[in-house]
Amino acid sequence: MVVIRGATTLEHDEKEEIRRAVAELLEQIANRNSLKKDEIVSIVFSSTSDIHSYYPAKAAREAGYGSCSLFSAQEPEIDGGLALCIRVMLFVEKDMTPHHVYLRGAKVLRRDLAVFNVAIDGPAGSGKSTVAKRIAHDYHILYLDTGAMYRACAMKALEAGADLDNETELMDIFRDMQLDVVYEGDVQRTILDGRDVSEEIRRPEISTAASMVSKHPSVRMHMVEKQREIAGKNSCVLDGRDIGTVVLPDADFKFFLTATPEVRAKRRYDELVAKGHQVDFEELKREIVRRDDRDSTRALAPLKQAEDAIAVDTTGMTIEEVVAFVKRKMQEKI
Ligand code: C5P
Repeated sequence: MVVIRGATTLEHDEKEEIRRAVAELLEQIANRNSLKKDEIVSIVFSSTSDIHSYYPAKAAREAGYGSCSLFSAQEPEIDGGLALCIRVMLFVEKDMTPHHVYLRGAKVLRRDLAVFNVAIDGPAGSGKSTVAKRIAHDYHILYLDTGAMYRACAMKALEAGADLDNETELMDIFRDMQLDVVYEGDVQRTILDGRDVSEEIRRPEISTAASMVSKHPSVRMHMVEKQREIAGKNSCVLDGRDIGTVVLPDADFKFFLTATPEVRAKRRYDELVAKGHQVDFEELKREIVRRDDRDSTRALAPLKQAEDAIAVDTTGMTIEEVVAFVKRKMQEKI
């Protein structure tokens, strides 16, 4: 007798979704293991305590797995465990090596079992933050936008009228700055001295100022310490320039996203216009190239691909394709 394991997650506790998820999970297990239905002796499901709408065993019967014995059980609540998760064990009468199947972020990447971190680095507009948000959402872990922290510093410095090249003056200002990263659901808010600046820090002049303040070693040390503290306590995806090289050199998964400056500028342009900002495309492109240059040539923690990072040229790819690629690489590594 061989046991094949599998799991999947849901978006909502709804009958139709449970039906679809169970049918998909069983079909993939059958395909990947070349299983025939009459080789399955029994199927045991367990689901997290937030699933009530339907029994997975009933869904399995409806999907055509009615000739073996079927069981459904509910798991106890685990603090920090995966939400809306259905797990399964198939007992199979066959001499084979089982291929376990984990779908929709239900892999052994369970934040209740271990803290794991995903580092996504790359230049502005390479798609880092969109991909990082999606990965965080799908794996039910936090997303830490480290650029937002440097942006908040830049905003503080600009408001204080500081000289952005003067490290001592900047550190004097930053020493009693209260910078907090808080989460509303899975959305990160950046709070500067008690004020939510999440939207304001996206302004183009803040991008340039962020790149200027972030070149100073003491500013970086201050930020990196905060980033490591958050990443040490929580499974999370961090995006930035130096995550895989400096902040978390031992990150479990590392990616380096790139794209041509033209494509990156276009993405930023569309994003800013959609938010109602007035921007000049050519100027934005020049600003991005200047920023890349400053970020890549600074002495400390420059924008650089870590040796063990997987490079992804996103130029001709849709976000869906990049997310699928990143997830596939993560699944392969586990
Ligand atoms: O990623 P984002 O465009 O928001 O970052 C703004 C600036 O903050 C970057 O141009 C870079 O200078 C700096 N930064 C950094 N290290 C990080 C993240 C951002 O130096 N980890």
